[in-house]
Amino acid sequence: MVMKINNNIKSGYNKNIHFYGKHTYSNLVGKLSPRDIYSDTKPDEFIALRNIYNDLWKNLGLPENLKPRIQYKAMLSTMAFSVQDYMIYVQKRVSPFKMNLRNKSGKNKSILRHEIEHVKQIWNIVRLVGADNMAKEFNTNLKWLNIEVSPSLLKKFKEIEKTQGRILPSSKEFVIAQQYLEALRSYPDTSQYYGISIKELLEHLKYKKNLLEKEAEKEEAKYKPKGIKTLKIAIEEFIKLLK
Ligand SMILES: [Zn+2]
Repeated sequence: MVMKINNNIKSGYNKNIHFYGKHTYSNLVGKLSPRDIYSDTKPDEFIALRNIYNDLWKNLGLPENLKPRIQYKAMLSTMAFSVQDYMIYVQKRVSPFKMNLRNKSGKNKSILRHEIEHVKQIWNIVRLVGADNMAKEFNTNLKWLNIEVSPSLLKKFKEIEKTQGRILPSSKEFVIAQQYLEALRSYPDTSQYYGISIKELLEHLKYKKNLLEKEAEKEEAKYKPKGIKTLKIAIEEFIKLLK
């Protein structure tokens, strides 16, 4: 999850991007994949990804009107839910080969599940605090997250509240929603870059331990493909390229 995404990734270091991104592909898969090309993203892979996303959303029984849009973006993490833009971003610097592989192996589905969990966490927080109070919350307790509640974001918060209702002390989600709000208030300010210092490593570990991340990882794990399955598909797809 990221709060805000800065467009300029070339600066390499920026406070608004949060570390997320794991590359668990084996070296062999890495070697089979042609080099990532910055802007070469064939729409076919993206359409397939969007279909996986739409099906997953539907299968989870989540309300269609609250579904964030999904878009390619030049960034460093694999995928990220941006609270500021209410959007799930997908890294565009992935070769069509790799994207295809991630679609087919189930890797993308599991990462999408992770990001959807963050979407649901934000719903709970909005429902607890109340849409109108969210702007106040972002200006006080969550000020460091640097989120401007734009009119369209406020509208989205109101829609969340209207669709799902407020969380009251008597609601079954009350305790977890409070914990999520606490976790968001103490969300580590980690940045995303290649050279990691000790301080940054500690921030990263804190990030991984944050309740919001822990819960999202739990959901992601349920969908994670086995390494051997990924490898099998990688070889099949590579052979197809040779034909
Ligand atoms: Zn996450």
